[in-house]
Amino acid sequence: MTAVGLPPASVRPAATVCPFCGSGCSLLLAGGTAFPRRRHAVSDGALCLRGWSAGELLRSPRRVSSAYRRDRGGPLVRADGEAVLAEAVDRLRGIRERRGGASIGILGSARITVEEAGIFVRLAQALGTPHLDTLQRIGYQHFPAVPLEAIENARRITVLGANLTVRQPQVGRRVLRAVDRGARVRFVHSRRVQLTSVAAEHEVVLPGHEAEALTSLDPGELVLVSSELALSGQGTEVVRALEGRRAMFLTDYANQRGVVEAGLHPVDGGLSAWEMLEAAAAGRLAVGSIRCWGRCSRCWWRPVM
Ligand code: SF4
Repeated sequence: MTAVGLPPASVRPAATVCPFCGSGCSLLLAGGTAFPRRRHAVSDGALCLRGWSAGELLRSPRRVSSAYRRDRGGPLVRADGEAVLAEAVDRLRGIRERRGGASIGILGSARITVEEAGIFVRLAQALGTPHLDTLQRIGYQHFPAVPLEAIENARRITVLGANLTVRQPQVGRRVLRAVDRGARVRFVHSRRVQLTSVAAEHEVVLPGHEAEALTSLDPGELVLVSSELALSGQGTEVVRALEGRRAMFLTDYANQRGVVEAGLHPVDGGLSAWEMLEAAAAGRLAVGSIRCWGRCSRCWWRPVM
């Protein structure tokens, strides 16, 4: 990470958010090059290498610049966007008339924005299906939002199951500042990750047992919680153990908190993402609509868009 000046005044930059991790750094994109925002609560004048390379997405030859369609088992072929959209609408309408709206499931990728999540809700309502889920929900735990400055000013910090330099570089940067200010940092992790070298203590635990370290917290200690804990089945235990304590949940995706807290999750009677995939494999869902970044040729769920 390196603080830099703004791009040349002749280039009008566009402000956006880095899509690569849950930190949510603010970028200025100018002429296909990314620059960090200097007065922003997260980026604070610096990006990690992924953020600095974000402009390369705009120049990638693999960037999707057209609609594509694929018949079952066939290759993806370039197609006219308006024609493909009209065909998708016709086919969805036909399926809904023959089998009902509940035969359609909608599954969003982990990378959707809050606005796209809102569009999904409206699409599900229009189709008449309760089956709507997004991978943004996976691993998310509700903890009240805590500003990054709280890390820098903490006297004691426990990092629970997180490899910060890989998953949350901006949080790792604040932990380093806290160490510089004399904070005592404890890492609870199954292996030696990069920042354990600056920590006062590294408690080695088996994967899936990180939450057991929460029995020995000082009053006022700040706990940084990785989504890995929820993914390994410790979510409820961690939320209970940290009730009333200072804790920060480290989201995996930039829009995760916004999407989940806005209410995009299975409604009563709706299937979760995994249940939708099982239902599709068993033929109980006629069709799935997937929004994702890749144009992979291996997806076995039958998409219509
Ligand atoms: S810390 Fe995360 S959000 Fe910030 S530049 Fe790096 S990958 Fe992007």
